[in-house]
Amino acid sequence: MEDSILSTTGLCYSYQSGPFALRDVTLEISRGRKIAFLGPNGAGKSTLFLHFNGILRPKAGEVRYDGAPLKYDQGSLAALRQDVAIVLQNPDDQIFSSTVEEDVAFGPMNLDLPREEVEERVAEALALTGMSELRERPTQQLSFGQRKRVAIAGALAMRPKVLVMDEPTAGLDGHMVGEIMELTDKLNGQGMTIVISTHDVDMAYSWADSVHVLNRGRLVFSGTPEGFFNCPREVNAVKLVQPTMYEVNRLVMASLNLPEHPHPKTSSELLAKMSRCSPGRLFVQQNGSRSEGVPKHATAGIYGPMHRAAAATGELNVEYSYNGLEGCLGEVMLGRDALLVLDPGLKGQVMKRLDRLAKVFGRQIEVLWV
Ligand code: ADP
Repeated sequence: MEDSILSTTGLCYSYQSGPFALRDVTLEISRGRKIAFLGPNGAGKSTLFLHFNGILRPKAGEVRYDGAPLKYDQGSLAALRQDVAIVLQNPDDQIFSSTVEEDVAFGPMNLDLPREEVEERVAEALALTGMSELRERPTQQLSFGQRKRVAIAGALAMRPKVLVMDEPTAGLDGHMVGEIMELTDKLNGQGMTIVISTHDVDMAYSWADSVHVLNRGRLVFSGTPEGFFNCPREVNAVKLVQPTMYEVNRLVMASLNLPEHPHPKTSSELLAKMSRCSPGRLFVQQNGSRSEGVPKHATAGIYGPMHRAAAATGELNVEYSYNGLEGCLGEVMLGRDALLVLDPGLKGQVMKRLDRLAKVFGRQIEVLWV
């Protein structure tokens, strides 16, 4: 059984005299995993998240962190909020200071940390969210996407063990969605537990280690994404649709009279399942200029923000500036060589994907670290 970092037992909650927003919710959040909450609008996801760091207090039942029931005195809540940080759906509910750096410094300042450590944390959080250059900018002058980054930076400045984000990708353009999901991969690679809510079934299917599904305040499913999406009736009952890759696999396999299992979650996994050619080689490097020894014909992809700027200025010729890991794995599955340029913190996620290709789809890829 997995080690749980957060759990709820029989959790019930209602706002004022309204109906129950959460009813008898019992669940466990596994330590160090990526977890997605799904469910229609009004299902209770935000209400549940506000219980994870004690902003709301259960009307019945309890919430546990690290095995111990939450305590609601000021000192205990302050300690909890260092470990469990929440990013609200609307950044305007979270940003109160007049400049970016002041806002990100707000949490650490309240921990009475030495000034240098507050500075260090702010710089780290701004770098992780790509906001370093805008640190002095008035928060009023930021775009929605930039305000979202500031809200995330504020949470990261607490150096939490659990990062809870309510619909982190809603309303963002494709590149920024890619950057935020990359960031979650990086933080998760450092051991952080990441909890999100989303309506994006394609992302939840490929990103999450496990999913919890809420409907009308009740928990209706906890398990793997495949386990949930394998039940079309349940998916329909909570007003969701099947992920595109789930449907493509189902229909293509039916047309070829082949088994649906194993279920590919991405296009490279679909190719791994179907392609008959032997895979190409995956070259991996962690510096920004093309290493010697990488064949000229290798298609390059970026995974992580560190080298994206070099790619944008043309110093590094890349075909996949975003979603580079998936792009490179797709090329390799077509029998071509690919070069993945990645940030050091993302190595673990690469290994996880390669491991899945080997174990689930029987495809061993030759990896050359250059
Ligand atoms: P979700 O995040 O899944 O969309 P919510 O947790 O926001 O769901 O809402 C769950 C239920 O609680 C809904 O019926 C919603 O109308 C109600 N609710 C949410 N916030 C408040 C509030 N501040 N006051 C009263 N009712 C609320």
